[in-house]
Amino acid sequence: MVNFHILTLFPEMVLQGLHTSILGRAAGRGDISIEAVNIRDYTTNKHGRVDDYTYGGGAGMLMQAQPVYDAYKSVADRIGEKEGKKRKPRVIYLTPQGKTFCQEMAQELAKEEELIFLCGHYEGIDERVLEEIVTDEVSIGDYVLTGGELPAMVMVDAIARLVPGVLHNDESAQTESFGNGLLEYPQYSRPEVWHDKQVPQVLLSGDHAKVDAWRLEQSLLRTKERRPDLYENYRKEHPQTKQKGTHSKT
Ligand code: SAM
Repeated sequence: MVNFHILTLFPEMVLQGLHTSILGRAAGRGDISIEAVNIRDYTTNKHGRVDDYTYGGGAGMLMQAQPVYDAYKSVADRIGEKEGKKRKPRVIYLTPQGKTFCQEMAQELAKEEELIFLCGHYEGIDERVLEEIVTDEVSIGDYVLTGGELPAMVMVDAIARLVPGVLHNDESAQTESFGNGLLEYPQYSRPEVWHDKQVPQVLLSGDHAKVDAWRLEQSLLRTKERRPDLYENYRKEHPQTKQKGTHSKT
């Protein structure tokens, strides 16, 4: 069970996106919980403002420390009361300046009970509050988005599907791309022939050992072609792996 808390100026955006399909059903069953906390509800500004100009000049507005800190405190205090101790929860600030998100990070974060995500907007957030509350800075890639909401949704989705019970079959997360350090093998469903393309015979053989061997071989070929960096790492960790040649679909 992981409780996801998302600090944002756009709660409806993250809730609509995340309470859908597999994650929505998982939240309904209580395998995960997802709450969005509106940072604007915590501003002490009588006009409801949460942003202001940056000192030193420059384009754009910056989210101020006070509403972000108070929104964080409301969640951290609740977590502290629930756990019966004052432990600092893990707070992930979504930022293009952070460590790039990956499957390994998702696996590590899926072991936490409480995760707080902080979404910036405009030019970002006053550095002083980041220094005080943030434990992890994470980016979803080398490009700049308008806000941290989509990155938070990406991270919550990737982490939540690794929480036991969320997927029907917990094994499927392990056989998928990156689970074992490789890209996943190609997959087929009915009919057996479509647009004159035949499903590889081995998959129809009923011989599970042969199917497993074919799938590993295809994973290796695909990874070598598409992600030589992952392929080299895998070969270093599995020195018995034979070098793969060209693609075969039979
Ligand atoms: N001024 C910041 C900079 O140059 O690093 C960029 C601010 S961006 C326009 C506004 C917010 O979007 C950020 O505070 C962050 O929360 C989010 N954001 C934008 N790109 C992101 C990315 N690649 N990964 C994670 N969060 C991102």
